[in-house]
This record gives sequence, structure tokens and C-alpha cells, in this order.
Amino acid sequence: MDMPGPTPIEAIDLKTTTRDETIDITSLVRQVVKKLGVDAGICYVYCPHTTAGLTLQENSDPDVKKDLLAQLARMVPRDAGFVHSEDNSDAHIKGSLVGSSLSIPIEKGKLLLGTWQAVFFCEFDGPRSRKVLVKVIAG
Ligand code: ZN
Repeated sequence: MDMPGPTPIEAIDLKTTTRDETIDITSLVRQVVKKLGVDAGICYVYCPHTTAGLTLQENSDPDVKKDLLAQLARMVPRDAGFVHSEDNSDAHIKGSLVGSSLSIPIEKGKLLLGTWQAVFFCEFDGPRSRKVLVKVIAG
């Protein structure tokens, strides 16, 4: 039986507009899955940056993402006396806290997200040009 070859890694380009923000990229990730035409498998979403990250979170009430960013700011204040000379240690630490990748199951060609779940890119040191990589693994 012939196995299909590996699907290419797809890149999603983003331009963030403020220092701290979350951007709902669910529809962009769905477009990649649709384009690759994989019926079942895993969608691996990866952030190749050290001052940003990815998280699954509610997209229905915008206060949820406001609270998330506000709580991260309380937990990791920018002026906490960090030694890293770029003055963005808070952004590095927040990136580590939220994490840099997500794995989402795919069934019948669709992401199996919960009703209230959305894929968020988390910017902690913008504004910048950013990239999110998506690898779909069929199986
Ligand atoms: Zn830095």
C-alpha cells in the first residue's frame, strides 16, 4: 500500500501591533488544514520565537484574554530587576509560561477544538513581524 508523502510545513505570517496582545489565528490554522486536505491526524502548531507563544483559550468573551494578559503582567512585571540586557525578560518568561506549541486532533478534515476554544498567538514583545509554523501529521 502506498503511503502518502509528508505534508509540507506551512507558515502563517503575522504582524503584531502592540507590546502585549493575543491574536485569534484559528481561522488561519483551519485554512492550512483544509489546504493540505488531511482527513485525520494531528495539527501541530509551533511558535519559533522566544518572546511570544501559543495557547488555546476562549474567544467568545474578549474579557478572558484581557484577564489572561493582565494576570501574566502581574505575575511577571517588566521592572522586576531582571539582568538580561534587552529589557524584555518579562516577555521571555511569559513565552515560557504559555508555551511554544499546540497539538490539536483532526477528524473528518476538521480541528477537534472544544466549543469555546480558539488558537491564540500570544505576543509579549511587539510590535513585530512573527511567524507560526503548522505541521499536519496524517494518521
Ligand atoms: Zn531578550
